[in-house]
Amino acid sequence: MYDFTLTSEQKAFKAMCRNFATKELAPIVGKADLVPDPKDAWGVVAPVMNKALKLGLGKVGIPEEYGGGGAGMVETMILAEEFGAVDYGFAMSLWVTTTATRLLLNGTEAQKKKWWGPTIADETGKYIWATVSTEPPGGNEMMCPLPDTQMGIHTSAIRDGKGYRIKGQKLFITNGGEAEVLIVNARTRPDLPNAQGCNWFLFHKDTPGFSVGRYDSKIGGRLSTNTELFFDDMWVPEEDMIGEEGKGFWVIERIYLENSLTLAATCIGVARTAYNYALEHARNRIIWGKPIIEYQGTSTRLVQMKLKIETLRALCEKLAWALDNPAEAEGLDKLTKLAKYYSGQVVHEVTADAAYIFGGYGLMKGIPVEKLIRDGLLTRVVEGCVEANEWMTAQYDLKPIV
Ligand SMILES: Cc1cc2nc3c(=O)[nH]c(=O)nc-3n(C[C@H](O)[C@H](O)[C@H](O)COP(=O)(O)OP(=O)(O)OC[C@H]3O[C@@H](n4cnc5c(N)ncnc54)[C@H](O)[C@@H]3O)c2cc1C
Repeated sequence: MYDFTLTSEQKAFKAMCRNFATKELAPIVGKADLVPDPKDAWGVVAPVMNKALKLGLGKVGIPEEYGGGGAGMVETMILAEEFGAVDYGFAMSLWVTTTATRLLLNGTEAQKKKWWGPTIADETGKYIWATVSTEPPGGNEMMCPLPDTQMGIHTSAIRDGKGYRIKGQKLFITNGGEAEVLIVNARTRPDLPNAQGCNWFLFHKDTPGFSVGRYDSKIGGRLSTNTELFFDDMWVPEEDMIGEEGKGFWVIERIYLENSLTLAATCIGVARTAYNYALEHARNRIIWGKPIIEYQGTSTRLVQMKLKIETLRALCEKLAWALDNPAEAEGLDKLTKLAKYYSGQVVHEVTADAAYIFGGYGLMKGIPVEKLIRDGLLTRVVEGCVEANEWMTAQYDLKPIV
């Protein structure tokens, strides 16, 4: 049975995230958002990220016996919501490290020591991680479960001695230019369909053959960076491959499920902030002699906003439990793909409604709601489109509800 009550440790973690986000992150958000060049914007963000990592927020997902925080999905959600309430892009950049490190929960003992070790030991706050999958022919291709061998991942990993040579191009990668540790998805078996032919490889940013290309300038989420990455016959030893050759598809599924939920939790934070701004404005704005919240049109709009946020939160809390307890959850964990879709809808509607309550001010640049609208818009695309996620759910996860 799941319980929505946070433990005392979870409450303390939530308070710590909120305190850090409010005191350290909030003061730089407005400035970093307006810096035109994404590399320069990262220059403003990096000292705060550095501080957050020094505090241990990048290693919360690593089990306690290895020196990490032992966080499950509930804590990951807390982190995403609290940072998302202050800035979407920063939250995403931070939790990508958390969810990437969690991938090694299913790695070998040697991989855990080799790759978690330096992150745990790091006192400089530079150990950012990235997961690298999307390619120019289409991000939605990456999850392709169909038998056609031409579909899916095109980056190749060809056996060479006691390792693999990786060749290809990736794009839109969060933290791609900043990460110390990256995990790349490549095709070890191009003769087999995507789902039977992929593997993920861990590597350090200094590995010969790896290079960073263009930095993307996004309309929202501007406190995180996204980059093109190139692999020019980059050699990695076989022990850095996750799982057996050709059997890495489950890793991409795991990333999708965890990242989808974490992205949805980020949107709870964004929507919460938009709602709080709108509520305050509705109480203070006097039109025709009374605060606009006293007009039913405004108050019911706020009620609907609250309902959407609380519904999303309840769904995410249940799915966090399902991801942490897959054996008991009877496949419910697979629905995080759709929670992500729903969160995109909620954040879009709530931020637009908040702007409406602000009237003319809601359409002006420079008020916080305008930025929240831009940030929230990213959600529908990141981690795959609605149609692909619905199709996969329909094909594999439609079971009777008991
Ligand atoms: C801010 C941001 C951060 C990101 N971070 C990362 C990261 O860290 N790592 C990483 O690997 N990738 C990352 N991505 C890439 C992201 O996952 C992809 O953009 C996403 O999967 C969509 O891929 P695409 O942009 O190539 O769109 P496409 O795959 O070209 O899809 C475009 C449109 O086609 C339609 N469509 C596609 N497939 C179907 C289908 N099966 N059925 C019906 N319609 C369909 C939909 O309308 C869809 O929106 C990031 C992207 C952004 C914007």
